[in-house]
Amino acid sequence: MEGNTRGGGHSEALKNYNVGRTLGIGTFGKVRIAEHKHTGHKVAIKILNRRQMRTMEMEEKAKREIKILRLFIHPHIIRLYEVIYTPTDIFVVMEYCKYGELFDCIVEKGRLQEDEARRIFQQIISGVEYCHRNMVAHRDLKPENLLLDSKYNVKLADFGLSNVMHDGHFLKTSCGSPNYAAPEVISGKLYAGPEVDVWSCGVILYALLCGTLPFDDDNIPKLFKKIKGGIYILPSHLSALARDLIPRMLVVDPMKRITIREIREHPWFQNRLPRYLAVPPPDTAQQAKMIDEDTLKEIVNLGYDKDHVCESLCNRLQNEATVAYYLLLDNRFRATSGYLGADYLQSMGRSFNQFTSSESASPSTRQYLPASNDSQGSGLRPYYPVERKWALGLQSRAQPREIMIEVLKALQELNVCWKKNGHYNMKCRWCPGFPQVSDMLDANHSFVDDSTIMDNGDANGRLPAVIKFEIQQLYKTKDDKYLLDMQRVTGPQLLFLDFCAAFLTNLRVL
Ligand code: ADP
Repeated sequence: MEGNTRGGGHSEALKNYNVGRTLGIGTFGKVRIAEHKHTGHKVAIKILNRRQMRTMEMEEKAKREIKILRLFIHPHIIRLYEVIYTPTDIFVVMEYCKYGELFDCIVEKGRLQEDEARRIFQQIISGVEYCHRNMVAHRDLKPENLLLDSKYNVKLADFGLSNVMHDGHFLKTSCGSPNYAAPEVISGKLYAGPEVDVWSCGVILYALLCGTLPFDDDNIPKLFKKIKGGIYILPSHLSALARDLIPRMLVVDPMKRITIREIREHPWFQNRLPRYLAVPPPDTAQQAKMIDEDTLKEIVNLGYDKDHVCESLCNRLQNEATVAYYLLLDNRFRATSGYLGADYLQSMGRSFNQFTSSESASPSTRQYLPASNDSQGSGLRPYYPVERKWALGLQSRAQPREIMIEVLKALQELNVCWKKNGHYNMKCRWCPGFPQVSDMLDANHSFVDDSTIMDNGDANGRLPAVIKFEIQQLYKTKDDKYLLDMQRVTGPQLLFLDFCAAFLTNLRVL
């Protein structure tokens, strides 16, 4: 490891690191190994050149990856320690994965032994399950995006294509790599997210156990035909249980495809399942409230203020202390772990038992993450898998125009103000019992301008309870019904439920 001189002129921004050799070259720039000076631990730094990204109009993709990874703490998802912005570059400091891509491992070794494939698959599924619980579908799962750390443990990486899942808001962008992409993705149909990851995991499991891809063809139309038809060969060397599981994951109809929960229950998956993976992972909001006491002691010994560290951790702030804390925490568990053997299990179990609520760690740290500000659904709401017998959203068989007329009428009756962004997309505000609402509207009941979306206090200067929500889209379903997608942006959740009830009553649904 060398000094900053090889950091490519980034010495000030990366002053806490000794930057070393290049690990790989990605779409937007290099990934380099570095040593964190305070703790001595290794990290990988992704150097994203902003000009290059702007040219490629991909800054959004990178920002998405950063936004998602910042929230996640899971043993099988790449940990993001900090992001450093300069006018020319974005430095993403993340967990270092010594053995690189799982893809190289498959290419080198060919097909894996069943136990080894299962170990890797169990880790992948637990990482994917964690994403789904936090409302994120990865959408680009493939061995190139699965990295291996120094203990050959899998880490999910590259969330650039992920999209935060909204309840009832289907993902519209068709993306991902064709060989791993689900039929509904390549057909450009609306899809909800979790099922496409299940399909990709099925392709990965096949690749791990067979050393080849289930769907492959140099000719893309032919490849698509195979995927859409679910046409592949199951080799005879697979065990009976693996032969049972793979076809359940590679079901063309996403509604009939096995779910993550069902994969978990499958006997092939259950075999040799490590204890720490046997329980569903906590969600990110829960995790923010937990602080590991031993790591806290270590960080205080390094000279950081205890209360400041606790407060920063609870509020998910990024500063020198939190970067050092997470590096120490991760390396503590890595150091005590065997090859995901008993030591590791104990340390993981210990970590969850030993984590203390931040309330007891410091009385000044009781500010939890503000879930109600979570307007983008950015991973703080728990994700409950959708039962298939229910359809999402409000359904109707009427024509879109009629539906929207009814919807607008109901909104009008409830004194909702709105601003139309498109035929089926509008920003709305509901302020129960707020008398001056009509003054702010034009003849069409629309906001006169955006500024009226601001909250206005009452005569005593108190802010009234206000719900802001969006009508996002009207989706057509396979059976020719329409689904209205409506989402709360800000405001008390319970009040929003009150509003929904009133809205449904006005639509005569209730
Ligand atoms: P892409 O932009 O194509 O998704 P990345 O920028 O994520 O690629 O990574 C480029 C290469 O750098 C990867 O193929 C991998 O070999 C290496 N790499 C990326 N992240 C890490 C990491 N955390 N640890 C070790 N190597 C990494």
